[in-house]
Amino acid sequence: MKFGFDIDDTLINLREHAFHIYNEKLKKAIGIEVFSNIKRVEIHEAFGMSDEQGKAMWNNSLEEIYYTSCPPFPGAVETLHALEKNGHKIYYITARPEEHGERSKEWLKEQGFPVQNNHFFYGMKDEEKIYTIQKLKLDYYVDDKPAVLQTLLAGSTKLYVKDQAYNRHLQNIPRIEGWSDFLKDIKI
Ligand SMILES: [Mg+2]
Repeated sequence: MKFGFDIDDTLINLREHAFHIYNEKLKKAIGIEVFSNIKRVEIHEAFGMSDEQGKAMWNNSLEEIYYTSCPPFPGAVETLHALEKNGHKIYYITARPEEHGERSKEWLKEQGFPVQNNHFFYGMKDEEKIYTIQKLKLDYYVDDKPAVLQTLLAGSTKLYVKDQAYNRHLQNIPRIEGWSDFLKDIKI
């Protein structure tokens, strides 16, 4: 079977990693409980920034956010290896910008994820992921963003949502709270 995965906040804990970077850069000590209660993908509100300021902060911090020590979620690397070992194909579909695609692919390999060079897609907008996912005829796809998952609801790909505070209103899509449960849930 073909399994597709979003990367940021699905396989790796990027927003929390960025939250720590913001605290450091801004010399603040906003607590992790504040982070856990942010009900949107963007994290800047916790630092009192407007959307415009937040966007600038994110873009100016991308190098650190993407390429330092962002941890995978527990069990994510192992789950993907187990799928590959059982003969399944792994695909990555990320909206990371075009200019960060190849470096991100190498970074993901360095973190231990099983990555085949021609199974890595990037540079599309969230709502454009559907074209790659349909073209690949994925059997399963996992993402964290409601906007992405909602474009895929009518298709035949089985969807899973990686649990985050901002996607709990998606009631009709099976939810991954911990990666170690995913294999048990799909039973393959
Ligand atoms: Mg994501």
